[in-house]
Amino acid sequence: MMEDFANHRINSYDKDLDYPAVNGVSKLSSRLSAGTVSIRPCVVAAITQGALRGCGGAEHWLSELIWREFYKMVMFHFPHTAKSPFQQRYTHLKWSNPERLINAWTQARTGYPIVDAAIRQIHTTGLMHNCLRMIASMFLTKDLDTDWRIGERYFMQWLMDYDQASNVGGWQWSAGTGTDAAPYFRIMNPILQGHRYDPDGLFVKSMLPELSRVPPRFAHEPWMMPSALQRQCGCVIGQNYPSPIVDHNTARKAAIKKLQD
Ligand SMILES: Cc1cc2nc3c(=O)[nH]c(=O)nc-3n(C[C@H](O)[C@H](O)[C@H](O)COP(=O)(O)OP(=O)(O)OC[C@H]3O[C@@H](n4cnc5c(N)ncnc54)[C@H](O)[C@@H]3O)c2cc1C
Repeated sequence: MMEDFANHRINSYDKDLDYPAVNGVSKLSSRLSAGTVSIRPCVVAAITQGALRGCGGAEHWLSELIWREFYKMVMFHFPHTAKSPFQQRYTHLKWSNPERLINAWTQARTGYPIVDAAIRQIHTTGLMHNCLRMIASMFLTKDLDTDWRIGERYFMQWLMDYDQASNVGGWQWSAGTGTDAAPYFRIMNPILQGHRYDPDGLFVKSMLPELSRVPPRFAHEPWMMPSALQRQCGCVIGQNYPSPIVDHNTARKAAIKKLQD
């Protein structure tokens, strides 16, 4: 797998890595976390392909390997961050942990296709594309005001590539409590992210067959379809696919206010 990636796909990694419908990433994480592939030959492959000579794809892939090592170093030196925020000023942050909404997230029924498709991917493959991990985790922590530890535990139960350091690092990044955390006002918009990284809706349709006949321009906001069109493509909102469980813009403002205070 590593040789196939290094010989054929590494050069376009920087262009393809954020598109879940494209075979652009190495898919080596389960091997790396289980230890059946060592980080060393991966680093050698990246360097051989020009990571230190300005070759964009190889350089970017090396930087992702370094994220892995960085999170391992953080966990080694700050083991308490497995359970508590890296940034101490967030230790007393309160989350509302709404049970009904958390259940909708775990059941892929949030009404936001990119989030639901991400959860379906983890249920069906035991993996989730990195870009989707960021969107799904940010949606749970920010839009649904849920403690990142709940999401971290959920991913632990499902991920084949589970790695405590990377998982905690990723969740704390999304929650805004981690080392290099996304600033509190950076909240991903699941509709815009969907249009951007899955422009034709191919990925969401592959995971959510109930959207298969929805025109691409509505693939990430199917509730915007007129009722006649909903009936015509067999995706009546509230019947075949849920309506959004929260309004993203309202949830976003509440999350910013909470983290600001
Ligand atoms: C909320 C959240 C939870 C995550 N949980 C895990 C986890 O439990 N286990 C895990 O291995 N990764 C985790 N990641 C990181 C990343 O999503 C996966 O490593 C990546 O999707 C694996 O796909 P790949 O092997 O094709 O990666 P590639 O893009 O080909 O990258 C090569 C390798 O670099 C490492 N890597 C890539 N991106 C990251 C990153 N952002 N952080 C740390 N290491 C990275 C991985 O070992 C990966 O296999 C998480 C990210 C987020 C945002």
